[in-house]
Amino acid sequence: MKAKIASKKALRSKVDVSTTRKKKTGDIGKLAIRELSHFNLIDLFPLLTTLASRIWSPWAILLVRFRNDTQPSPPLTKYLHLFTSAGSGTLNMVDFFSDMSHGQIDISGTQVFGWFTLPANRSDYVGNVYPQPAGKLNRNGLLDLAKATATSTGINLNDFAGVVVCGLDSVDLCGWVGGMAALCDSFSLSPSLVGQEMGHGYGLDHARFQGSVDDYRDPWDVMSTAAYPWIQAAHTEFTTVGPGLNAWNMRSRNWLDENRVWKAPAPASAWDETIQLRPLHHHNLPGFLAAQIGPYLVEFRVPERWDAALPRACVLVHRFAANHSYLLPAYSGSQDIVAGDKFMIGDPTFPFQDYYAAEVTAIDSGNHTATIRLHQRPATPFPRPHMEFAGQLFGGVTVDGGGFFVIGGRIIPIPPRGPEKELVEQVARYLETELSATGVGRTLLARQEVLVAIVRSAVHLYAETEIISEQPPGYMKEKEEQ
Ligand SMILES: [Zn+2]
Repeated sequence: MKAKIASKKALRSKVDVSTTRKKKTGDIGKLAIRELSHFNLIDLFPLLTTLASRIWSPWAILLVRFRNDTQPSPPLTKYLHLFTSAGSGTLNMVDFFSDMSHGQIDISGTQVFGWFTLPANRSDYVGNVYPQPAGKLNRNGLLDLAKATATSTGINLNDFAGVVVCGLDSVDLCGWVGGMAALCDSFSLSPSLVGQEMGHGYGLDHARFQGSVDDYRDPWDVMSTAAYPWIQAAHTEFTTVGPGLNAWNMRSRNWLDENRVWKAPAPASAWDETIQLRPLHHHNLPGFLAAQIGPYLVEFRVPERWDAALPRACVLVHRFAANHSYLLPAYSGSQDIVAGDKFMIGDPTFPFQDYYAAEVTAIDSGNHTATIRLHQRPATPFPRPHMEFAGQLFGGVTVDGGGFFVIGGRIIPIPPRGPEKELVEQVARYLETELSATGVGRTLLARQEVLVAIVRSAVHLYAETEIISEQPPGYMKEKEEQ
């Protein structure tokens, strides 16, 4: 879920808290000294590089209750374990953001404050209602009141990169996209759920599936959790953890270690390479953690840690547009890709379109490797004489020539005018409106307009065929009379 940022005040607070800061030099030194004993000199340089690039991003966890709540406040233990370094190593939120950012996001400075009693009754909270009704609290109102209440006790929230408000009992669950703020309650204290809400805070949005702009459509990504409880792994203290973030979502936050992403030696030419991938979140293992072909990222996931509930080890492919990751299906139609299956875009026999493929030749879960054969063949420019001919087809009304299109290697002629030409022109226009990174909404609107034109042309054609195929009224009668 995500919250609307409705008020200017909320937008201001978003700006105030969203700045993340580099880890203080003293802390880097302390960590380096502690960790140095495990490393030899050759390993020292990457370690120092990692420490220097680590982003210090502590959250303030504010535990709040309404003034008319009667149940006792739960002990702080669970909150400390879930959110702070007290629970590091148990798959808590510190571990989650470290793993999902390949070691870059360090929330170990997170602190828990409370319980605070808010100057409001439980019935004052109205949830996801905008604008905020007089005398009531919506999501922004509750967040602001919790922050004001904590600040009034002397807590300086400017020392923190973000704020999570934890309500007592059942209250709400949401995150502010890019706003470094989240709301949760006693029923949502799990990394599966809080991971998505705090993830929203860093700007992540819900994960999607190719061919749809609906949210919550990628079972393998934490930015779709709650929709797929079967892929959340059971945890004795935190109820459920995972799944992890996909490679494109990680890259979108600059969390993907690009030094560990396999990239084509010559991105603009045709190539064919067999590579091995390591599981995406296993930054500790040597080798590639993802591979790039064109706009797609290929990743390998195994049923361990955050991904422990995955039904099987698999390869996944994603693209990214308008702040959403899109999962692409396998050639077989499966959403995940296993050995013997492949991802394929384009047609290897049609040279005028980009062709990408990732064939999974082997998955070795025990050794944490997936062997993948990657292909790329950029589109060949359409031959020039044909371009001019095609220009006639898609040209203005003064052009009097016909045209053609090529499909499946066959050349299909198009009449110089009439509804057939209009229909083909509109279909071509539709295919040209690709979902761009600048605005899915705008693209969809453009597509809808083109579809209306297609339907109009089709109805026109249908009407013509009706006239042609129907017998003139009284035709048989006249014949009989003759
Ligand atoms: Zn959400």
